[in-house]
Amino acid sequence: MTFVITQGCCDDASCVPVCPVQCIRPRPGDPGFTTTEQLYIDPSTCIECGNCAFACPVDAIFHEADLPPSQVDFRGINADYFAAHPLEDLTPHPIERRRLPRARPELSVAIVGAGPSALYAAAELSDIRGVTVMILERTPTAHGLVRAGVAPDHDRTKLIGERFDRVLRRPNVTALFNVDVGRDVSVQELLRHHHAVVWAAGASDDRTMGIPGEGRVGLVSAREFVSWYNGHPDFAEREFDLSGRRAVVIGNGNVALDVARVLAQPVGAFEKTSMSDLALAALRASNIREVVVVGRRGQAFAAYSTAELLALSQLPGVDLLADPTEVSVTEQELETSRGRSADLARRRAIVDAAARRTPGSPRRIVLRYRLTPTELPGDHAVSGVALARPDGTAEMLDTSLVIRAVGFRGRAAPGLPFDSSAGIVPNDGGRVVDPETGRPLPGLYCTGWIKRGPTGVIGTNRADSAETVASLLDDVADHRLPEPPHGPPQLIKALRRRQPNLIDAMGWWRIDEAEKRAGRASGRPRVKLLAADDLLRAAREDHER
Ligand code: NAP
Repeated sequence: MTFVITQGCCDDASCVPVCPVQCIRPRPGDPGFTTTEQLYIDPSTCIECGNCAFACPVDAIFHEADLPPSQVDFRGINADYFAAHPLEDLTPHPIERRRLPRARPELSVAIVGAGPSALYAAAELSDIRGVTVMILERTPTAHGLVRAGVAPDHDRTKLIGERFDRVLRRPNVTALFNVDVGRDVSVQELLRHHHAVVWAAGASDDRTMGIPGEGRVGLVSAREFVSWYNGHPDFAEREFDLSGRRAVVIGNGNVALDVARVLAQPVGAFEKTSMSDLALAALRASNIREVVVVGRRGQAFAAYSTAELLALSQLPGVDLLADPTEVSVTEQELETSRGRSADLARRRAIVDAAARRTPGSPRRIVLRYRLTPTELPGDHAVSGVALARPDGTAEMLDTSLVIRAVGFRGRAAPGLPFDSSAGIVPNDGGRVVDPETGRPLPGLYCTGWIKRGPTGVIGTNRADSAETVASLLDDVADHRLPEPPHGPPQLIKALRRRQPNLIDAMGWWRIDEAEKRAGRASGRPRVKLLAADDLLRAAREDHER
């Protein structure tokens, strides 16, 4: 018997160091760690101690005897990994205890953003004696994409927020919300009050397709749609046309599958989640019964992960279908495909079954492949998507709602250089570099999607932030960080004067508690506050009593 890592694996590798027999792979630093879809347990080495399950921040590890029916396939998925990558080196990676050099016993670091990459960086830094961390976040809430990106039916993934809150509670961490770096304070001013600044504000723009009609009403970016159903205050009041029978999602990454699940399932699947009440109301009235997911390449190159495709094939009341003429995989594609062959075989089995399925339910998700969007025709609003096949023939899919899920893009950060072709801050191992000279800009660092581009899952940011923090600490040791003329307390005073709506960590916990209290009353993890004013009121609640 063995423990098994399942669908919700966050990839942050909290399970790795606690495994006494080192049978979890890939480990941080192993080849493939940053590209693998999840971590795996070798069933023939596992001693069933259960340490990994206790350490998992998202409850994704089960004893094989306790696997929920929807996760049973993961027994094979874990085992298959080791068929291709036999377990060899069982020596644990040494855990490095970091400390500041004697000559610099104190270090202050400002981190911009309060999402996963920011909080993993804060966790690494605040673990070191002598380090103080100040987190500055534009919105009134913490957890970034865990709150505003992870789909509401992935509630186990959202559990990682509890780990992040433990970091915010550390005495050497200060968090300030509703502070817009660029508007309320500049990066240069942050540097005058800290030894270093880490930019960790994510990728807040979208890739576009560059086709005619992309500006029409009815073309919605996945970022907007996902932020809407997750109740992000900037998007919560958006309205989308859900009156048609069909929606089309362009792209077939995991974001596309999240959107397809939300649109295709009966709203009952979300009533007991943290989905925004405004989104629940709109989805209750939705007429959409068919969601077409359009990939521009063959299924061997689909961007979704095996776990998410598997989950899509198991949705109650929704048929997963595919067009039988589009699911073939050529020999050449097999050789150059994404992922491992065991994964591809599993995915093909799911897609091939979808291509054979006779629809029985009025609700369906249809996977389409090898179709390139060429135009979004219509007058003021979109009326369809024009698609081109590799043989030059064309097809028109009628729809009034097109969700563009073709990936995110970093946005230039005020005061930092920007590589607009890659959509990232130019950096070397997290050190921000001058794009002209390639030389590091002293005191400036970055981590997360703005550093590496919009790839990977929540926990991918842990290793990414560890790399940035290691660069920062090397610079401290090499005396490359100048002493700032002022300290963080002066800046906090100035920010409180400049931003009357500033919220501190206590304010965030009041928001958190208010939402959870409302959730307890209705059997949900939380009921999200959607308006900026309501969030502010909740943050100040105790003060006003
Ligand atoms: P993604 O994985 O990069 O997928 C983007 C998709 O858009 C691909 O199918 C890509 O096709 C397609 N595309 C790009 N440009 C296009 C164009 N001009 N026309 C048509 N199609 C185009 O991005 P994502 O789905 O936004 O996900 C971002 C990251 O978050 C990923 O690492 C993802 O795994 C992660 N995520 C994970 C979960 C989860 O684990 N549950 C959930 C959400 C997001 P090509 O491959 O042909 O370029």
